[in-house]
Amino acid sequence: MSEGLKVHANVATPKQTNDIIKKYGFKFKKSLGQNFLIDQNILKNIVAAAELDETKGALEIGPGIGALTQELAQAAGQVTAVEIDNRLIPILRDVLSGVPNVHVEHGDVLKLNLKELIDARFKGLTGVSVVANLPYYVTTPILMKLLEEKLPLEHIVVMIQKEVAQRMAAKPGGKEYGSLSVAVQYYCIPELVCIVPHTVFIPQPNVDSAVIKLSLRDKPAVDVKDEGHFFRTVQACFAQRRKTIANNLTAYVGKTNRERLGPLLESCGIDPTRRGETLSLDEFAALSRALIEAGLPG
Ligand code: SAM
Repeated sequence: MSEGLKVHANVATPKQTNDIIKKYGFKFKKSLGQNFLIDQNILKNIVAAAELDETKGALEIGPGIGALTQELAQAAGQVTAVEIDNRLIPILRDVLSGVPNVHVEHGDVLKLNLKELIDARFKGLTGVSVVANLPYYVTTPILMKLLEEKLPLEHIVVMIQKEVAQRMAAKPGGKEYGSLSVAVQYYCIPELVCIVPHTVFIPQPNVDSAVIKLSLRDKPAVDVKDEGHFFRTVQACFAQRRKTIANNLTAYVGKTNRERLGPLLESCGIDPTRRGETLSLDEFAALSRALIEAGLPG
């Protein structure tokens, strides 16, 4: 990752964050991924990346004590913030009491009907983006829910673990490229916004973080006949990273179909001795279509 992506942290802890935590005697819950961001520059970078204005809505996941929420409220027309921890709800209501364009929703984002929430909260706006410092223990399930439910989103700008961000943005040919890269890039154009040191959170996590911007495509990156089959084929090709595609796919289509795989892969222009990590999205799509046409499982 280039030096240019590094953000120089504003090391001072905003007094407000510490004051709020002290005032309410708030105790962090590690199990909920509670690492609060205390750097104003980074909060502003996250909000700027989302390209908001008063005609846009922002859906925040996990507002904590509302530091990012307050920045979002200044940039967007409407903000809805979904927080799972009931201890944070009265704090959020207090901190955000003078901010009219914020709605706080108590709930688990993984269980909520987000389509209904977006329709209800952002009526009349010209676009909606998700902007969040995500709880790291559920980053991938949350992002896959946002993408697979095909929500009407413009951008997803999120702080996540650095390694996960690098995997999402990875190109074919490297060890970071895998089924997560394919899934994210099928739906979105990823862009690493900045790398963030662990020192800008309280409490500090053990890992560095990155802000990633996912811009939703109007239609998926490649044509597939059956999305379920496409993603199962991708998973199968990465099942054992050291194995060739032909070997990984044998486990998938069954030993009795093994001889059919060589010609099928070659008809797609794919050398059977290649590894999954070298295949582009176009190649995975061609492979899935060819397997379907050949009546092979997926
Ligand atoms: N946005 C705040 C900030 O940047 O300082 C807090 C971010 S903290 C990394 C993650 C937040 O997500 C916490 O407030 C946590 O309680 C909340 N959270 C964890 N799991 C959640 C879930 N399933 N649904 C909604 N919020 C969740």
